Amino acid sequence: MNTITQHLQDVYDRIADAARHAGREPHETDLLAVSKTKPATDVAAAWAAGQRRFGENYVQEAVDKITALKKTCPDIEWHLIGPLQSNKSRPVAEHFDWVQTVDRLKIAQRLNDQRPPHMRPLNVCLQINVSGEASKSGLSPTEAEALAEQVAALPRLCLRGLMAIPEATDNSDTLRAQLLELKQLFDRMQKKHPQLDTLSMGMSNDLELAVACGSTLVRVGTAIFGSRNP
Ligand SMILES: *Cc1c(COP(=O)(O)O)cnc(C)c1O
Repeated sequence: MNTITQHLQDVYDRIADAARHAGREPHETDLLAVSKTKPATDVAAAWAAGQRRFGENYVQEAVDKITALKKTCPDIEWHLIGPLQSNKSRPVAEHFDWVQTVDRLKIAQRLNDQRPPHMRPLNVCLQINVSGEASKSGLSPTEAEALAEQVAALPRLCLRGLMAIPEATDNSDTLRAQLLELKQLFDRMQKKHPQLDTLSMGMSNDLELAVACGSTLVRVGTAIFGSRNP
């Protein structure tokens, strides 16, 4: 077994164990393999091991990989999980399956207008700033509920859920409180928007806690592909 295959198996096992401990079903939380800064060959290795959903942060780097892997790994589902500037929205609308970092109407409208007619509607998550840090991108819960109404009305987008990058903290009580607040917001919004099925939270270091707090999609890079050069 190669290293990536072994690491992937370890992460699938961690998710399943965390789910069992939390009284959830392992299949309720899926894995997004975060391949930013890693070569297309690493993505292909993970794909060969059965992984299908991948996350990227940088638009041009991602478009290069998406193009390179189109033939050999045709059924990859690509998620943008990095910040999106409106002048880069076109290649995103033309190449990605999901954008998890929608945080304003202008971006949503551009993605909607630029999504090519032959492609399926673009899946989107609203990015939430759950810790309320001024330095962070993302919406407050109140803003998210308002933007959800507007995004749900755009025909070329499909509103799927919420994503968050919680405050970096060693205090697991603080982190748990933030993750549970997100879960509550998600449940509340799901009542109005029953199509919401994705709560994207949890990374390499905190996926167990995220699964326990209701995550349906953990985003894991380092634990699969190794550490990244800055
Ligand atoms: C890089 C990144 C991840 C993966 O982080 P790891 O600690 O390497 O697992 C998850 N989510 C986002 C938004 C990221 O930018």
